[in-house]
Parts: sequence; structure tokens; C-alpha cells
Amino acid sequence: MHKDVKEILYTQEEIAAKCKELSKLIMNDYHDKEVILIGLLKGSVPFLAELSKHVSLDVTFDYMDVSSYEGVESRTITIKKDVDQDVKGKHILLVEDILDTGKTLSTVMAMFLERGAASVEIVTMLDKKEGRTYPIEAKYVGFEIPNAFVIGFGLDFNEKYRNLPYVGILKEECYK
Ligand code: 5GP
Repeated sequence: MHKDVKEILYTQEEIAAKCKELSKLIMNDYHDKEVILIGLLKGSVPFLAELSKHVSLDVTFDYMDVSSYEGVESRTITIKKDVDQDVKGKHILLVEDILDTGKTLSTVMAMFLERGAASVEIVTMLDKKEGRTYPIEAKYVGFEIPNAFVIGFGLDFNEKYRNLPYVGILKEECYK
């Protein structure tokens, strides 16, 4: 275990098993649909890779990089990298590492609906329900976690720890 990790929450075996479970639900819901898996950079990459191995449907991948901030009257997101394809009439599954306040994904979801997507749903590896301030839920959730700062399996702190093969809680002394 990495010296900065206080506790491992989910091992790579547990995450892989969960991805298999989620992929079955996804295949059941999307077997007759054309679906684009859209990963939110950078944290979703390991989860998207693990999940998609088990989704035996004709899916395509795309990636998006956004940063979101709150203005006085509205929410704005800055698109640092947009998807490459036209989403009109397509079924979109947004793939995220962790859903916290819901700010980023609620804005991204609205944006794809505005662009004419047939449907937009979320699959998230982790869900911090306690942190939610926007009315948004993921259709597919790997694990519900308490309000702790987690790292690993794509999740970073100052760009570090994304490569850890497990999800763990970061020691407080590393960020306080
Ligand atoms: P929100 O749902 O608040 O818009 O933002 C979700 C994003 O916040 C995630 O993609 C992730 O970048 C970041 N985030 C929220 N909670 C955590 C956490 O516990 N650990 C890490 N590493 N990032 C987090």
C-alpha cells in the first residue's frame, strides 16, 4: 500500500467485479441502441477501460475535458476538450470517476441534451451522495462512499496517485 494511503476502500479485484456487474445492467438497457461512452478526463480513464472490457455491445468512445465554475447568476463550464462526434440522436453514457456535488455532470448532461442527444445517463465508479448540491443522480453506481477524500484508480490529488490500482482514503497530513 502507498505510504500516503490511510485505508484501502476497494481493491482492484473488487472494482473489476463491480465493473462486470455494471456492464450487465448496461448491456441489458442498451442492447438495441447506439451508445457512446464519454469519459470525463482525466479521472475516468481507468474506470472506462475496466468497464468497457465487459460491455460486449457496439459502443464508441469519446472524451471530454471540462472545468466548471459558479458565476453570480449562472453556472458556466469551460470546455477544454470537446467530443469529436456529433451526438444528435445518439444515446450517451457519461463515464465518471466520482460524483460529488453533481455540478460538472449536471451541466454536461444539459449540454448534450441541448445538442440533441437521444438520452444522457451517468455511470460513476463512486458516488458521494452526501456531497450532492445539484439534483442529479447516476443511473449506474459502482460504490456509494462516505464524505472522505479518495484517491487511486484514476482519482488524483495534485495530479498524483491516479495510477494506484485501488481506491483509498488519502491521509489527512498529505493535504492539511
Ligand atoms: P462534482 O460532482 O462536484 O462536480 O465534481 C466531481 C469531481 O470532483 C470529480 O470528477 C473529481 O475530480 C472531484 N472530486 C470529488 N470528490 C473527490 C475525491 O474524494 N477525490 C478526488 N480525487 N477527487 C474528487
